[in-house]
Amino acid sequence: MAVVKVSLLDALHEHFGFDSFKGNQEIIIKSILSGKDTFVIMPTGGGKSLCYQLPALISPGCALIVSPLIALMKNQVDLVRSYSSKDNVAHFLNSTLSKAQIKKVRTDLLSGKTKLLYVAPETLTKQENLDFFRDLEISFIAVDEAHCISEWGHDFRPEYRRLKEMIEQINAGLPIIALTATATPKVQSDIVKNLGLRDPQIYISSFNRPNLYYEIRPKRKKDQTIREIVKFIHQHKGKSGIIYTLNRKTTEELADMLMANNIRAVAYHAGLDANTRAQRQDMFLLEEVEVIVATIAFGMGIDKPDVRFVIHYNIPKSLENYYQETGRAGRDGLEGICLCFYSHKDVQKLEHLMRDKPLSEREMGAQLINETVAYAESSVCRRKVILHYFGEKLDRENCGNCDNCRNPKEKIEVKNRVVIV
Ligand code: ADP
Ligand code: MG
Repeated sequence: MAVVKVSLLDALHEHFGFDSFKGNQEIIIKSILSGKDTFVIMPTGGGKSLCYQLPALISPGCALIVSPLIALMKNQVDLVRSYSSKDNVAHFLNSTLSKAQIKKVRTDLLSGKTKLLYVAPETLTKQENLDFFRDLEISFIAVDEAHCISEWGHDFRPEYRRLKEMIEQINAGLPIIALTATATPKVQSDIVKNLGLRDPQIYISSFNRPNLYYEIRPKRKKDQTIREIVKFIHQHKGKSGIIYTLNRKTTEELADMLMANNIRAVAYHAGLDANTRAQRQDMFLLEEVEVIVATIAFGMGIDKPDVRFVIHYNIPKSLENYYQETGRAGRDGLEGICLCFYSHKDVQKLEHLMRDKPLSEREMGAQLINETVAYAESSVCRRKVILHYFGEKLDRENCGNCDNCRNPKEKIEVKNRVVIV
């Protein structure tokens, strides 16, 4: 055992330059190396990537990493390459590559130099790719952002549902490691079932983010809310923050209002073309703007460690979304302020968005909204409620770092339940 430990630490140091493992990383890596199916539930920023990158680098063959976003893939590959002196140690294969680039990737794969190959689920729907992978030495399959497989998750992607059958076509015996920051029990069981994980080793880390301060504010008139936001940002001059809104139009409006108030801000949503989105994301990462006003299209996989505040201009559609979105604050462990404006009108807007969906989906949506409403209206420690949602218990009575702990208030009735008829 001791020998393994020393060599894993050596490998960590050699490949990433880190001196110690974070949280469960080491035990997870051992689980993969022993060929077991492994399920990793770790909050954003916990260090999930390393859990598959390190074993991939030290195992014979190449690991296939399934990742949902093409934009993220390049970022990840660049990161792995930055640790290594060899560019061909990691590649990605998706629809953005030219024929010549695909050929180069395949040549590197066949030569055995490539240890990590990032693929989109779409890549695995192509028979020629599956045939190619079948003849390749593959060390294991990693399914990143595995919650995309579940409709109960915050980012369902139907193509993820077909992963199991596609993996079986490559080689049914390959070990699978699934990773997610989503900890709700429903999503977890969906992942295990849909990926067909065989007696998986499951590693769940704590979801508590002690450095995040949670506050809910009643949302009044638009002008007043914007004044509150402007005041807040001026009090945090020069700090980076994200403002989430429900729709695209509001991102633009709000960004304009902020700029009119001498705050460098930019809007971000899925209606912008890919170039503009990439450009605006970079402006935020490089701190050319202080604030990015965005729909939920922004954020997955963004690794900006010093986001100091996340403001929800509208209440999100689930507590899971709220956790993920606020989770982008304070990834470096320092201050992270999470403000959420709450009004019943916004709850109605969320309901309205579901109006054309089938009944089962509306019921599911209503349940998620009700949980968020209960959270917003609760007088209980916010952290306690969030952790309870993830099946975890706060180790003390009060966290002391949320509005309800700092300013205890009278219990108010939860009255705004969404009822589907
Ligand atoms: P996740 O995918 O869980 O959100 P990442 O894999 O992006 O998290 O890792 C978050 C950050 O933690 C990255 O900047 C990464 O370099 C850093 N990190 C991961 N493992 C370690 C470690 N053992 N020591 C120091 N930093 C680490
Ligand atoms: Mg990740």
